Amino acid sequence: MNEDEAYEYVKNTLRKEKITPFRPDEIEIVKSVSSCINCGLCTNHCPVVAAVGVDRFSGPRSIAVELSRSPPEYWSAADKVYLCTECGTCREVCPKNVDIPEIVNMIRARIFEHRPDLVPKAFMSVREIIAEHSLAFEPWANREEKEESRDMRLEHLGLPHVPDRTEENADVLFFPGCQAEERAQEVREAAKVILDFFDVDFTLLNEFSCCSLPSHLMGDEVTARALAEKLKQKIKRLGVKKVVTTCAGCTSNLANLAERDGWGIPVYHMLEFLAEEIGYKAISRALRKARTFEAVHVSVHDPCHLIRYTSRQIMDYASEILAVIPGVKVTTSEAHDSCCGGGGMVSYHSDDVANAVVQENLIALAATGAERLVTPCPLCTAQLENSLFKNGSPIEVEDLTVFIARRLPKE
Ligand code: SF4
Ligand code: SF4
Repeated sequence: MNEDEAYEYVKNTLRKEKITPFRPDEIEIVKSVSSCINCGLCTNHCPVVAAVGVDRFSGPRSIAVELSRSPPEYWSAADKVYLCTECGTCREVCPKNVDIPEIVNMIRARIFEHRPDLVPKAFMSVREIIAEHSLAFEPWANREEKEESRDMRLEHLGLPHVPDRTEENADVLFFPGCQAEERAQEVREAAKVILDFFDVDFTLLNEFSCCSLPSHLMGDEVTARALAEKLKQKIKRLGVKKVVTTCAGCTSNLANLAERDGWGIPVYHMLEFLAEEIGYKAISRALRKARTFEAVHVSVHDPCHLIRYTSRQIMDYASEILAVIPGVKVTTSEAHDSCCGGGGMVSYHSDDVANAVVQENLIALAATGAERLVTPCPLCTAQLENSLFKNGSPIEVEDLTVFIARRLPKE
C-alpha cells in the first residue's frame, strides 16, 4: 500500500467519527506546532489582533493550540480561523517556523468537510459560482457589454487594445486571474500591452479557469484540487514554457501548485518577468522614451502574497522599475508591507474586520503625502480603493501593471 492508498484507507475508517487524517504534506505543519515556545511574537505582530483586539480575535498562538485538540473541539475555532487574513506575518516573525496560515487552512478544510454549517455563508455563495463557472466571480452575462466596459476603461487610460491570442507551444502563458479576467479588465489588457511591446510570444487559455486559491482558502479542498488538476492539464496541452501572472495570490498559489504537482515550468509575477527575463536595460530604454506624463508622487503597497509567500525581491524589482520611469517620485509608507485587509477572504463575511485591519495602512499612507498608491495586485488594488473611498481619502489607487503599461511608448 503506498502513502496515498494508506491515507484513503485511514480516512474511510475514520469517516463516521468525523475525523480527517493529516495528509503527508500536512504532517510537517502539524509537527511545527509542537516546537512553539510561547514567546508571543506572533500575537504581537498580528494585524488583526492589533486592529480588533484579542477579545474578537484571540490570535495566531491560540489558533496553533487548536490543532492539539480533538476535532469536535476545534470546531469551536470557527470564530477564529475565518478572521485570519492569512497575511503570513506570524510565520515570518516566528523563531520556530510555526506555519500558522497553513494551520488556519487545515482547520478551515476540516470544518468545511465535517461542519459546513459553520462555514461563513458568503463562502458558500462563492463556492456555487466556482462550481458553475470555474471562476471566483460571477462572469458577465453579456459578452458585448463586457467588451464595451473594457474598451471604455482602455480609452480612459490611453491604452491600446491588444487582441487575445490562444496558441499552442507559445513561450509564455499569461494567466490574468479571476479579478483581472472578469472585473479589473484593464489589468489583463495592460499585461498584454507589456508582453506585446517586448515581443513576448504569449498565449492565453482558450477558456480561463480559476487558479484554485479561493477554494483552498475557504477550505473546499475537493474543488481546489479539481481546479488545480484542470489547470495543469490545460497548461500541459498548451505546451508553454513559462507562466506569467499579474495577481499576487495567483503568483504564490500557482508557484506552489507548479512545485506540488510537478508542472516542470516556472511561474513569474509580471514584475519578476520584466526584471529577470526582459531586463532593466530594455525596460529603461522603453520607459525613458515614454510619452510625456505629468509628474506623479506615488507610494507602493506590498501584497502579502508576494512578500511573505513568494519573495520580497519582487518588490525590489518594483522599486527599480519605478526608479527608471521619468517623473515618478516614490515615498515609502511606514506600513507599506502591512495587510490591505483583503486576505483570507475575511472581507467576504466580516468587512468591519477587514476595514479595521487596513486603518494602519491608510494613516501611514496619508503621512507620505503621495497622491497615488500603486500595487502589483488587482485584488489589493480593489480592496485599498474601496477602503480609501469609504474613508473619504483623495488618494487614487492604480495597479502597477497598468501604471507601467500606460508609460510605454506607443508603437
Ligand atoms: S496570518 Fe496574519 S492575520 Fe493570520 S494569525 Fe497570522 S499574523 Fe494574524
Ligand atoms: S511566534 Fe512562534 S514560537 Fe512564538 S508563540 Fe507564536 S507560534 Fe509560538
